[in-house]
Amino acid sequence: MSTRSFLVPDEIYDYILSVSLRETPVQRQLREATSAMPMARMQTGADQLQFLQLLAKTITARRCLEIGVFTGASALAVALALPPDGRIVACDVSEEYTAVAKEFWERAGVAEKIDLRLAPAIGTLDKLIAAGECNYDFAYIDADKAHYDEYYERVLRLLRSGGLMAIDNMLWGGAVTNPEEDDADTVALRNLNAKIGRDERVDASLLSIGDGLSVVRKR
Ligand code: CA
Repeated sequence: MSTRSFLVPDEIYDYILSVSLRETPVQRQLREATSAMPMARMQTGADQLQFLQLLAKTITARRCLEIGVFTGASALAVALALPPDGRIVACDVSEEYTAVAKEFWERAGVAEKIDLRLAPAIGTLDKLIAAGECNYDFAYIDADKAHYDEYYERVLRLLRSGGLMAIDNMLWGGAVTNPEEDDADTVALRNLNAKIGRDERVDASLLSIGDGLSVVRKR
C-alpha cells in the first residue's frame, strides 16, 4: 500500500517527489521499513512530512506535540526541524509500533528530543493542561479519528497564541463528501471540518495534500 495522495495523479506526485523531496537517509530507511509493514497505509507521505518540517521551521517551533506516533516518521521529521533544545511530547498506545520509532529516532540522533508517552493521548494531554503547560508551538494530530474532536479541543488549549496544529486525514479518501458514508470515523471528520470552518478561535486552511491536511493557527 502506498502513501500516494488520492488527490494527485501518479505522474504529478512522482514529479513533486523527484524535484522537491529532501529526505535524510534515516528518513528513507524508516519509510522503506514501514512500507513493508501490514499497516503501511497509515504512514504519512514523504511530501507531507517535509511540509510539516517547513511549518515547524517557519514558526521557529521549539515545543511540540504529536498525537499518534505509529512508526515515528512524523516525530522524526519534526524533530529534525527543531533547534537543539526543541522537544516533542509524542503520544501513542502501541508499544509494537513505537519500538520501531525509537530505533529510528536513535539512529537519526534525535531520540533525546522526543518524550514518548505510551498511554491514551487524552489522559496525557489532560495532564499537560493540568500542569499549566499551555505554551506549545506546534502539534500534529494523526491518530484514531473518533477522538479527533477531543484531541482538537485539548491541543487548542495547549497551543500558544500563534501556534499551529496540523491534522491529518481530514478528507478520508473522499468519504467526507459522500452523505451515505455514516460510519463513526467519517462522521467525526466531517463534523470537525465543519467546526474548524466556523471556529472563531482559529485561522485555518484545509489543504488537498496527502489525505487532506487541516492547518490551524490559534488566534
Ligand atoms: Ca494519517
